[in-house]
Amino acid sequence: MRFCVVTFGCQMNVHDSDWLARALEVRGWERVSEDQARVFIVNTCSVREKPEQKVYSLLGRLGDLCGRDPDAFVAVGGCVAQQVGRGFLERFSFVRLVFGTDGLVRAPDALVRLVGDPRARESLLESSETFVEREDVWSLPGPAPAQAFVNIMQGCDNFCAYCIVPYVRGPQRSRRPEAVLAECRVLVGRGVREITLLGQNVNSFGLDRGGTGVGFAELLDRVAAIPGLERLRFTTSHPKDIDPEVIAAFARLPNLCPHLHLPLQSGSDRVLRRMGRRYDRAAYLGIVEALGRARPDMVLTTDLIVGFPGETEEDFSQTLDLVQAVGFQSSFSFKYSDRPGVAAERMGPKVEPLVASDRLARLQNLQNSITRKCLKNCVGLQTSVLFEGLSRRQARGEVFWRGRDPAGRVVNVPRPESGPELTGRMMQVRLVEAKKHSLLGERAGSTW
Ligand code: SF4
Repeated sequence: MRFCVVTFGCQMNVHDSDWLARALEVRGWERVSEDQARVFIVNTCSVREKPEQKVYSLLGRLGDLCGRDPDAFVAVGGCVAQQVGRGFLERFSFVRLVFGTDGLVRAPDALVRLVGDPRARESLLESSETFVEREDVWSLPGPAPAQAFVNIMQGCDNFCAYCIVPYVRGPQRSRRPEAVLAECRVLVGRGVREITLLGQNVNSFGLDRGGTGVGFAELLDRVAAIPGLERLRFTTSHPKDIDPEVIAAFARLPNLCPHLHLPLQSGSDRVLRRMGRRYDRAAYLGIVEALGRARPDMVLTTDLIVGFPGETEEDFSQTLDLVQAVGFQSSFSFKYSDRPGVAAERMGPKVEPLVASDRLARLQNLQNSITRKCLKNCVGLQTSVLFEGLSRRQARGEVFWRGRDPAGRVVNVPRPESGPELTGRMMQVRLVEAKKHSLLGERAGSTW
């Protein structure tokens, strides 16, 4: 059966979609582009308002495609599916499967059943009290990428005032460390060189009823020790939970990459309190300093929200001030939007949309200038780059290989007329020019 997966949202969703696609390929299905597919899987996200709206407009388009082919149908999964539930089945006749975040593991078999019974429709929306293990799709034959993501936990217990994740992904449930290690070993054995450990709040790994006494710092030690693993990363971290042992791991583990994504959200203590983040400016800056001591080449990136209910111009200027002080390499910044049922939905006063847009533009201008400066400082350095594939970036007909340095910066290197395939290869590169969001490099050494 020919299928395609459309993914909205964060890295967790991208990883979930990759697993689902692979599980279907293992069952003999073929992943194709949208115009050739007969089964359309939409993996949704409800963290921001826009992705949710995009799901509905996509479903409108897919409905037209399904109208032309009676055997074609749509499956909707992820956070919006968990929230809207069977409403998708009631509203759209061409949607035949709805699966929630815990229901994902059973989605491949459900899809096979639905193809076999054209009148059937299913929903997989129940939540589980423990981490739901998925079938191993990585040790089976098939192409293995150089980089891989490994889930170490599900859900979140923090209930930050603006966030819908704990409502749709459920409480935090840590995966057993042995299962994490086994998956990492399989991946490295298949040629994976870089692993990113994934969770909503990896720093509280093990601190829930699924915990076995192994905390996140110990998990890092154990994964980093897998022979052949060249790069280890993790995301996402909550500043309130980052353990000094995790900070020390950056000094201790040579293959732990010197990059940390540490969501700040706001630079105002008053707003941070209202957000329920449970850290303040001073604590955040203390972590930044400790990280710099552990690893002087540490690169920080972050998430920021502007226009949180009640945010004043003074609060916002505190955010600008802290962004400048930390000097984030890059950031994801968003205007606050009400998500249904979260605490901030009931908070006021709401910030005028035009005011929020103006603040977002000012914040992004500041970030762009900091990013430019950070990238310029890299010019002249030599670094290792793990190549991910060809770059979409083209200039004067040139084609580039695109990869990342240990700090996660994008590095493009011109592809010579004839040269080897670089995807999945690691090479030493001299950085020669800073672009707006990336670096241009050339191979250190004379030949490819
Ligand atoms: S830590 Fe806060 S922002 Fe992150 S997923 Fe949990 S509730 Fe959402």
